[in-house]
Amino acid sequence: MSSLRDGFHRTIDYLRISVTDKCNLRCIYCMPSGGVVPIEYKEILRYEEIARILKVAAKIGVRRVRITGGEPLVRKDIAHLVHLIKQIPEIRDLSLTTNGILLEQHAEELAGAGLNRVNVSLDSLSAEKYTEITRGGNLDAVLRGIQAAEKVGLVPVKINMVPIRGINDSEIEAFAKLTLNTSYQIRFIEFMPFDSQDLWSPERFVAVDEIRSRVGNLGTLVPAPVRKSGPAHYFRLEGAQGVIGFISPLSNHFCGECNRLRMTADGKLRPCLFSETEIDLKPALRQNMSDDEIHRLIILSVKVKPEGHNISMRQAGMENLFKFRKGSGRPMSKIGG
Ligand code: SAM
Ligand code: SF4
Repeated sequence: MSSLRDGFHRTIDYLRISVTDKCNLRCIYCMPSGGVVPIEYKEILRYEEIARILKVAAKIGVRRVRITGGEPLVRKDIAHLVHLIKQIPEIRDLSLTTNGILLEQHAEELAGAGLNRVNVSLDSLSAEKYTEITRGGNLDAVLRGIQAAEKVGLVPVKINMVPIRGINDSEIEAFAKLTLNTSYQIRFIEFMPFDSQDLWSPERFVAVDEIRSRVGNLGTLVPAPVRKSGPAHYFRLEGAQGVIGFISPLSNHFCGECNRLRMTADGKLRPCLFSETEIDLKPALRQNMSDDEIHRLIILSVKVKPEGHNISMRQAGMENLFKFRKGSGRPMSKIGG
């Protein structure tokens, strides 16, 4: 089987596909309250176009795919895309990241179409706080969505939580305790600065070292043997059913282990979350070029994948990191997280 290697000897086998930049929430750490200027409908890739790209990518080494957004469940008939991707034999893992609001309605058809797993973003276990963070979201809907996902076998359910000091960091321990009696994977992700929100500041940032030490006060953390598909480092509170993952894009970035490309909803390959470099696949798709051209562009985006991002706090200091990000690039909801 062929594999894709970049210029720094990393194997690239994972593609995150954003299927829409639209969202039914406006999380304070992701979007401005009024939302962002939407990508024009005609610019958004059709499902058949996404599947065509994936067929080429799979031939040259992509094995795992994650569907994301915006909120992927707001796009019509997303199960059809799942179905199309499942026809590609080389893709052996297909997952989806969602805010969970519409998951209860869609879990069964997604599982039926062949989806393997879901990641649900959930930043508070208090109904009021959840509504505040998401600017209007309903916690009960998400909890029902998680239960529905478990029921139809979209497991293990991974729950992504972004601790923000003074907003929800007091809930770190409560989230960690969820693993005691459930098989959830709770993943703590460092709050990243993007110019789509004004919330980020060095004071708001909670580093993984701090999160881990607070979780460690609840019991002994032992390394957990989890099949890794990304940058999380997994542990288990001794005796717990579920596991806890720590993802530290800023305090200790994991570029050396990076195995992924991202594709935006309008068909741009983005080799690195933190770099503005994008390679546009849409002209090749829409000007009837051959699969060879798509192949060439995918290889090109792997070749230009940078060795790492240069916004390490340790090297640059928090203030510089803040300046670096402000005023640049697409918001997270448009890249796909
Ligand atoms: N709407 C879906 C969701 O919320 O899961 C998928 C897209 S969302 C952009 C993907 C992930 O990005 C979510 O887990 C969210 O928590 C994360 N995210 C968004 N803004 C972030 C930020 N500033 N720092 C860290 N993670 C962020
Ligand atoms: Fe929407 Fe996800 Fe961004 Fe929240 S994090 S605004 S749910 S895209």
